[in-house]
Amino acid sequence: MSHPARPYVGRFAPSPTGDLHFGSLVAALASYLDARAHGGLWRVRVENIDPPREVPGSAERILSDLRRFGLKPDGEVLFQASRTAAYEQVTRQLLAEGKAYWCGCTRADIPASGIYPGTCREGLPPGREPRAVRLNTSGATIAFDDAIQGPVEARFDGEIGDFVIRRADQLPAYQLAVVVDDHFQQVTHVVRGADLLDSTARQVLLQRVLGLERPEYAHLPIALDPNGEKLSKRMGSDPISTLDPVDAMTAALRHLGHPPPAFATGSALMAWAVEHWALSRVPATHAGQAGAAAPRSRL
Ligand code: GLU
Repeated sequence: MSHPARPYVGRFAPSPTGDLHFGSLVAALASYLDARAHGGLWRVRVENIDPPREVPGSAERILSDLRRFGLKPDGEVLFQASRTAAYEQVTRQLLAEGKAYWCGCTRADIPASGIYPGTCREGLPPGREPRAVRLNTSGATIAFDDAIQGPVEARFDGEIGDFVIRRADQLPAYQLAVVVDDHFQQVTHVVRGADLLDSTARQVLLQRVLGLERPEYAHLPIALDPNGEKLSKRMGSDPISTLDPVDAMTAALRHLGHPPPAFATGSALMAWAVEHWALSRVPATHAGQAGAAAPRSRL
C-alpha cells in the first residue's frame, strides 16, 4: 500500500531493556537515513510498556546515545507508558466487537509448537479464569511486500494462531501497542531489524481488523556481524556508548550495503549517508548470515 497523500514519517522504537548495541544502531541509522532521504520526519518512541523487563536509566542512555550519533528526532519523544489508556480502549473495543476474547490458558496448556489452538475462542471452558486477551485470527491470511525482504505471506491457522494482545499480567502486548502507536504517530514507513519480521504478520492483521492504514515495511539484515564474518566482538557486544561514532557508523553503513569513504567527522559521514542512501542497496541478509532471519517470539 503506498501513501501518495501522506507525508513520510519514519520511526525508531527502542525498548528500554538495556543499552543500545550495534544491531540497534543499524536500525536507528537506517530508519533515520530513509526518512531524511525522503525529506520525511523521523520519530523516536520509547517502548516502555514492560516494567518487569525495563532497565532503570536505559531510556535516558538510549536517548543520549542517539544524540551522540547525530540522530536527532523530530518532535517530542513518545513514551508508551503514557499511552496505556489508548491500548486499553482498543482492547475493549476488540472484545466488544467479538474480534478478541478472554483466554484462561496457562503456558502449560499451550502446545510445544507455541501455536495457540483456540481453546477459549468460543468462551472460557468451565473452571477457567480469564487471564490474557487474544485476537481471534481464525481463517486469516496476510500478504504484503517488504521493501527489502520481498513478498511475505502468512496464514494464521496452524502457523501463528490467536496471539495475545493483553498479557496475563494485564500489561498491553507489544503487538497491540506498536500498531496503536504507529497509527497515532502517523508512521508511513517502518524500517527495522528482520528479527521483527515474524511479528509483522500479526501487526498487519491487527491493522486490518482495526481498519488502520498499513505502513510500508522494510526489514533490515540482522546485524550478526558488522565486518562480514563472525560477530565482531568489539562492535557486536559493546554498548554503542563506548564506540567511536565514526567507526560504528562506518561499520553500520557497510552492513547496510553503503560502504562509505573515510570521513573525519560524524556529521560529514552522516551528510554523505543521507545523500547516498537507497533502500535498494540494502541486502536482504547479511553476508555472514546463514539462512533466513531467525524470528523472535513477541508473545
Ligand atoms: N521495541 C522493539 C524492540 O526494541 C522494536 C519495535 C519496532 O521497531 O517495531 O525490539
